Amino acid sequence: MELEPLRDGHGRLIGDLRVSVTDRCNFRCQYCMPAEGLPWLERSEILSFEEIKRLVRLFCAMGVGDVRLTGGEPLVRRDFPRLAAMLAAVPGISDLSVTTNGFLLERDAEALVSAGINRFNVSVDSLQRDRFYELTRRDALPRVLRGLELLASFPEAHPVKVNAVAIRGFTEAEVIPFAELARRSPYQIRFIEYMPLDADRAWSFDQVLTGAEIRAAIEQVYPLEPEPREPHATARVYRFADGRGRIGFINPVSEPFCGDCNRVRLTADGRLRTCLFSLRETDLRAPIRDGADDAELEEIIRNAVWRKELKHHVGEPGFVQPARTMSAIGG
Ligand code: SAM
Ligand code: SF4
Repeated sequence: MELEPLRDGHGRLIGDLRVSVTDRCNFRCQYCMPAEGLPWLERSEILSFEEIKRLVRLFCAMGVGDVRLTGGEPLVRRDFPRLAAMLAAVPGISDLSVTTNGFLLERDAEALVSAGINRFNVSVDSLQRDRFYELTRRDALPRVLRGLELLASFPEAHPVKVNAVAIRGFTEAEVIPFAELARRSPYQIRFIEYMPLDADRAWSFDQVLTGAEIRAAIEQVYPLEPEPREPHATARVYRFADGRGRIGFINPVSEPFCGDCNRVRLTADGRLRTCLFSLRETDLRAPIRDGADDAELEEIIRNAVWRKELKHHVGEPGFVQPARTMSAIGG
């Protein structure tokens, strides 16, 4: 099955689908979830593996090649490696990746690599155990680092990316240790600017430690040189001038990359979101469960994607934070 490419009303071709497989998580990162968790979706509200596969097939028939599985924490979804294997078999997928907090990698990394996951992003916000605990509300750094080390042993899943959310007043102390990790390990470290998608609605512009500020701090110690920018890449990547490692900056707040955005998102309860900051969602679960055929689903998807937002308005007067947090959207 090959269909017309999926295009939005601003002429952008959609090539990347982020699929949230659960809204649940075993961490409580301060910038994402409240300490007490959130009211979780009922099991019946969550798309089944078959429903996810059907939608992924349809998106891939419309030209999506990159599929990233996320959450919540994707590895807490029961039988997750089986879903990964089902999706790896979908025609047209060129890149099947996972974003995880790493806590369950020791248990699942091998099964996920065998299932066909070819790239991993692991979120690590601090390299100091007590500070990691403070931010994630879980004393889990040693376990996450063991999971990362295990991933490094699978060459078919390289490069492993490590993502750190950058928050002013917290991340400054982590910058040089992360730069040194990037220089001595096989991981590509990327700093992500803090976005207003937290459950506590505590975000403020002042708390955004920008990529430019972090880069300047690194350059004081280790000079950097820019790498050419890949199309649709969210990260600006630099190599250390002495050739030892690379480091990236994802700057959605200070340098939005909306003009080049080729992504859409599917939530665990089957809503299509055309922007992280969308205030509008399109329900795909109801039509599926009401018996819509592929042509009907395709039309609903095309109409929603056509209306994809031109850009986000973070930091502008009148910006409205979406009701869903990052954990419920699927970052
Ligand atoms: N639980 C997995 C994890 O943490 O990697 C996958 C889901 S998590 C929502 C995906 C990514 O979103 C993580 O790298 C996390 O750090 C990032 N994230 C969550 N809340 C954020 C926020 N308010 N601003 C920027 N990034 C955020
Ligand atoms: Fe969980 Fe990931 Fe959100 Fe942290 S960022 S609470 S690990 S979903």
